[in-house]
Amino acid sequence: MTKIFFTPGPSQIFPSVATHLKNALKKNIFSISHRSKKFHEIFSQTSYSLRKLLNVPNNYSIFFLSSGTESMERVLENCVRKYSFHFVNGAFSERFFKTACQLKKKAIKKEVDWGEGFDFKSVAIPRNTEMICFTQNETSTGVALRVEDIYQVKKTYPQKLIAVDTVSSSPYANIDYSKIDCGFFSVQKGFGLPAGLAVMVVSPRALAKASRLDKGNFSLGSYHSFLELQKYAEKNETPETPNVLAIYLLGKVAHDMMKVGIDKIRKDTEAKAKLLYDFLANNKKFKPFVTDVSVRSQTVIVADIAGVSEKVIKLLGKQGVIVGAGYGKYKESQIRIANFPSISKRETKRLIKLLKRCARGGSRTLMRLPS
Ligand SMILES: *Cc1c(COP(=O)(O)O)cnc(C)c1O
Repeated sequence: MTKIFFTPGPSQIFPSVATHLKNALKKNIFSISHRSKKFHEIFSQTSYSLRKLLNVPNNYSIFFLSSGTESMERVLENCVRKYSFHFVNGAFSERFFKTACQLKKKAIKKEVDWGEGFDFKSVAIPRNTEMICFTQNETSTGVALRVEDIYQVKKTYPQKLIAVDTVSSSPYANIDYSKIDCGFFSVQKGFGLPAGLAVMVVSPRALAKASRLDKGNFSLGSYHSFLELQKYAEKNETPETPNVLAIYLLGKVAHDMMKVGIDKIRKDTEAKAKLLYDFLANNKKFKPFVTDVSVRSQTVIVADIAGVSEKVIKLLGKQGVIVGAGYGKYKESQIRIANFPSISKRETKRLIKLLKRCARGGSRTLMRLPS
């Protein structure tokens, strides 16, 4: 049975990946040197496609790291001497905050309940804060911060650096990078690629901050400091032997997405999200976890399903449809549905049909469904 993965990472593979993978083998991508001209071409093609797809300004740097989690650490190591500020409303924003604490920064957090957004105007950010950290799409709860709110915070605090985690919203999230300093995402979510690669977009101001810290005899870490990454990126290289295959595949998929058109990808994402939220709103047994419509994520939809999460996941699984469990304390009571570009509208409709039968007829009905 072919399976379809609505899991919020790793997730359904982008349809063209199989072909690109075969071509990569044919082209000996696994064996080429990461200092060769061939690799320089791959590096520059992938950077170029990402820059075009996501509208990254030319004076911003693009670095390749190994994961979203690594990206949190790098941002803090390179841009924060001591004081970071974090908006926390779920497990990933909490991890960002915790990472700062582990690095012995003086991190402060504004925390709200899971499933909620923030009233940014009411938050006073201390004067000594060097960087403000946002998790734009909180994958554990399905809350997405409005990008305009993030820009407004930047406007209120123009001297502070802004870091934005878009791990589970890129490429859907339409970020104006000129208004932020560090943006990062890993590729096993919205890009529909195997895990093991992350992309970090860095502003000239963030680079200058890293440089100042370095000159002040402050440790930025070693091979993946922004300064090392920049030095190598200028030669279309990475400091270490990177995940060459992943960089190659990302370049190909970013190019394919450009051919589809980023506007179409975003519109399709919204149309599919609407189908899912409409279903949840009109169903008595299941309901959307996030009540404030204005902060509902378009890419990770979280449903309260009245304590039958495990059963529903199992039954959907029998139909080859894989959805995510609730996160942490909501494992039993919720399911999480990824709405990434790799999943078609037809597949989303099929999921909804199965969920409908699940809610209506209970588990017996679902088990009798033909696959
Ligand atoms: C998945 C995720 C991460 C962690 O990314 P990894 O690549 O698994 O390290 C960080 N932030 C958010 C919002 C995520 O969804």
